[in-house]
Amino acid sequence: MKKPGQLLELRRREMVATLKRFGIANRRVLGAFLEVPRDLFFDGAALELAYRDGAYPIGFGQTISQPYTVACMTSLLVERCVSGKVLEVGTGSGYQAAILAVLGFSVFSVERVVGLYERAGAVLGRLGLDVVCRCGDGSLGWVDEAPFDGVLVTAGAPGVPVSLLEQLGPGGCMVLPVGDCCSQKMTVICRLGGGFGREVFEEFSFVPLVGKEGWDERVF
Ligand code: SAH
Repeated sequence: MKKPGQLLELRRREMVATLKRFGIANRRVLGAFLEVPRDLFFDGAALELAYRDGAYPIGFGQTISQPYTVACMTSLLVERCVSGKVLEVGTGSGYQAAILAVLGFSVFSVERVVGLYERAGAVLGRLGLDVVCRCGDGSLGWVDEAPFDGVLVTAGAPGVPVSLLEQLGPGGCMVLPVGDCCSQKMTVICRLGGGFGREVFEEFSFVPLVGKEGWDERVF
């Protein structure tokens, strides 16, 4: 019989095989998915579901993103920005932040819900990863730590927050879902010379980015 650790590793391999089937090809990204124990970002009762390719509730009305979504966003970032400082907006469970840290980025992550900020900070600390967390409105970025080489917004934004654009360093790239409350198009914005380049990709459905440069709290 397999020990629980071996079983989880097997599930992790199966998850990576699914990601490959769905078209995720970046070897560094796939390697990070093999390394990070996604089950640690779930509570005990949900362990069985940790390696299914689905989003899952993490409390406070929020979700841990589907592995495919995390893999897409991470691939879009690492194809344009190989190292340096990354700002994540929406720590949630902390899983995406862990993937970025394992890829060698120096990660700064902001979460607006205190309970999630505390729980994610504890798990990331236990794993000893290079992630600094803060509780607050990430739609305004993290002025004291700017500029960033990369910005990843893991909640759906009604538009591109100007504060986040301003905090992108030269050659820096931002990956964020932009749209309405039901569906958003994955968008990549890169600071090129004196301006910005924009690319638009497939549709996803995220929980809303709620804040000064996101959705109004009273709408949700
Ligand atoms: N990256 C997360 C996904 C979490 S879902 C993970 O890997 O699990 C999106 C998260 O964004 C939620 O936890 C939500 O509370 C948070 N969020 C929404 N608006 C925010 C804001 N303005 N600033 C910081 N976090 C925000």
